[in-house]
Amino acid sequence: MKNIFVFSLSAMALISMTVNAQEKKYPEQEKMTAGMSEYWTPQPRVVTPGDIKTNTAPSDAIVLFDGKDLSKWQNSDGKAAGWDVHDGVVTVNKKNGDIRTKENFGSFQLHLEWSAPKGIEGTSQSRGNSGVYLQGMYEIQVLDNYQNETYVDGMVGSIYKQTPPLVNVMRKPGEWNVYDIIYTAPVFKEDGSYLYRPRVTLIQNGVVLQNNTEILGTTEYIGFPRVVKHGDGPILLQAHGDPSIPISYRNIWIRKL
Ligand code: MG
Repeated sequence: MKNIFVFSLSAMALISMTVNAQEKKYPEQEKMTAGMSEYWTPQPRVVTPGDIKTNTAPSDAIVLFDGKDLSKWQNSDGKAAGWDVHDGVVTVNKKNGDIRTKENFGSFQLHLEWSAPKGIEGTSQSRGNSGVYLQGMYEIQVLDNYQNETYVDGMVGSIYKQTPPLVNVMRKPGEWNVYDIIYTAPVFKEDGSYLYRPRVTLIQNGVVLQNNTEILGTTEYIGFPRVVKHGDGPILLQAHGDPSIPISYRNIWIRKL
């Protein structure tokens, strides 16, 4: 009996030694250093910022209107842009219709300034109505909502008939409003539906009105947004037929993203 017990212990010791002999040795984890999570290339391009005082654009922007001419624009029918350039600004000419950029864009950062003239009259949608169409499809409303209420999904800074702005940050007629628009173009599936909807961030006078808001589809005056497959498109400025004195734009530039 004693012999069997001793033999068993010896066998177990032998097995244990064999298993230990088979354990692999791996290199130890390398010690983390700060430099391991830092990379230096590629360096972002150097861009010289615009000068707010002189209304100049950043160095890599495409200047769409610098106060002198509308050579980057045309009417919707392809004829020369028929709005009125004077005193460094361009004033909407309602009878000549919308104007659009000759160039088409995908995702972008767009800067423009606009002003409803002093003494403008009218109520609701009939006071300084214009608009910025992104890729020619989706309207960001431009309207003089200074002490002038209208339906909220059609007020200044709305995605027209879709999403109201977060706040109303209008300056008085005669003063200049600044729009900075960051737009992400949609991606479509083959069947024409959205894989990724278009998105927009809108800042007016330094205040966020749309925060990466999803755009639901085309801008429709009557009815609901439609999903229409499209590629790059123009920036289109609206000549709305409201009877008020027309508004003006200035200092328009765009950066492709
Ligand atoms: Mg409009």
